Amino acid sequence: MCCALAATPSQGKVFKVASLSPASNHFAYRGDYTTFAAWNFIHKARHNVVALNGCFMFPVPTQSCRKCGYVKETLPHVLNRCNIHMTAATRRHNAVVNRLEKVLPQNSHTRILTNQTVPGCDSNLRPDITVIDDKNRIATIIDVAIPFESQLLSLRRHPSTQEGETFNDAFIVGSLGSFDPANEACIRRLRITPRYAALMKKLMVSDVIKWSRDIYVEHVTGIRQYAD
Ligand SMILES: [Zn+2]
Repeated sequence: MCCALAATPSQGKVFKVASLSPASNHFAYRGDYTTFAAWNFIHKARHNVVALNGCFMFPVPTQSCRKCGYVKETLPHVLNRCNIHMTAATRRHNAVVNRLEKVLPQNSHTRILTNQTVPGCDSNLRPDITVIDDKNRIATIIDVAIPFESQLLSLRRHPSTQEGETFNDAFIVGSLGSFDPANEACIRRLRITPRYAALMKKLMVSDVIKWSRDIYVEHVTGIRQYAD
């Protein structure tokens, strides 16, 4: 990591979280699973070299968001908080859920529930994925989150919590493609094989970068980047 960049408050944090897992940078040299447009975007985004009103180094007429009027148009705002992009942000989140669901081990004593209430639980909350092992009477509840990178370090204080035979896990990928190494505990608990896990991590990172690029480009050009 460049020392000058690492020392800056925003880029430094982005590079720090992106360096925590090799999967976060898997595309850097060969561009695996990543289009050139997404590859080009992510390098600029991680350096915060973006054409947003709140990011210019010189005075501009306004720093506010061109879409929703929020006081400062920054990358965290556009990629994670600007309401106009919520549909794309939801699809970005669901892309990670779908990747995880695809590699879960299938067997006769395991039930996999997606976006459903947990059987036997009073709560009406619908976790992204619940894996119920009827043989060993263990439930693993997983919620996927795609925060902006600078929030990633503070989001997870404990990799998982356990109440009786129920595990609650957060599964986190930063919106600039940083794979949280704390996800590894969840991957091990779900008994995903290392071979599948390695590919899954790369595809998740590339999916998130693709969606974040689509959000950013639509934001600055007004042109929809994905099929409805
Ligand atoms: Zn906005």
